[in-house]
Amino acid sequence: MPSEPHQTVVVDGLALSREIRARLAEAVARHVQDGRRPPSLAVVLVGDDRASAAYIKGKRRACERVGMNSVEHRLEASATEADVIETVEGLNRDEAVDGILVQIPLPDGIDPNRVAEAIDPAKDVDGLHPLNAGRLLLGQPGWVACTPLGIMKILEHHRIPLEGANAVVIGRSAIVGKPISLLLQRAHATVTMCHSRTRDLAAICREADVLVAAVGVPRLVKADWIKPGAAVIDVGVSVIEGELVGDVDTDGARGIASIVTPHRRGVGPMTITMLLQNTLGAYECAGRPRPRIASS
Ligand code: NAD
Repeated sequence: MPSEPHQTVVVDGLALSREIRARLAEAVARHVQDGRRPPSLAVVLVGDDRASAAYIKGKRRACERVGMNSVEHRLEASATEADVIETVEGLNRDEAVDGILVQIPLPDGIDPNRVAEAIDPAKDVDGLHPLNAGRLLLGQPGWVACTPLGIMKILEHHRIPLEGANAVVIGRSAIVGKPISLLLQRAHATVTMCHSRTRDLAAICREADVLVAAVGVPRLVKADWIKPGAAVIDVGVSVIEGELVGDVDTDGARGIASIVTPHRRGVGPMTITMLLQNTLGAYECAGRPRPRIASS
């Protein structure tokens, strides 16, 4: 028997971001009123990739709007790995810098893992240092990558039940797929991780109460892969003929999913908001022991 169509909520990631950013701005203002300097994010951009430059501009504007400092360090495309690491090490030593983000992709010949390892884990607001990735795996406090954090905020905001839920994550990258799988598991979901070699992806997706697609293959997830009432988070961003397209057939998901994130104003703004939140956290934690978190 066909199920009743669902009233699908299209997630407004921009509105949720604005709410959270307003609270962050208040916290920053309180610090400044108390006579402290504002939190500061250092962004390192290597080369002249136009998309990266645009992302960085968005991050800088977001910092400024909540009263944080944002300092850009631009290196020529000809910069070597040693040059990038030297820049990062300088920022590690700089007490006026709370968070460090090295924009990826990096030019050929620069190993992003070695660069991530050079960042002081206490300033690693992107959560890519092996120590922070390891802490997440072990359920210990540390900085977590921004996109997965933003996804968890969306699920929390929409009161999506996670305990005992079947969560399916498509994609196993270090920046999205792996950390979101761990966060969902920490929230007591039963998580299935899928990737490019997964057999019968459609059948696995059809069992998902929560479906996270972080792939980069336009409209990979078809409407008939979505379980009625599922929460669908579309992380993927592809550009086809100048138009942004996600990993999910979002139009097809309407009337089936409980919530779905749109290509614009979905996960993207939440990623930047979590970067601001992590930067404020790094600022507030500077010189203090790491906070304890509950996990089991
Ligand atoms: P990635 O390329 O590192 O990983 C892609 C993953 O998808 C891999 O694990 C691969 O195994 C899997 N995959 C590839 N083809 C598949 C297939 N046909 N079926 C199942 N799995 C398949 O990508 P990433 O960095 O995790 O990013 C994924 C997407 O999310 C990209 O489109 C990226 O632009 C987007 N993204 C968006 C945000 C945001 O804030 N909105 C943030 C990060 C990434």
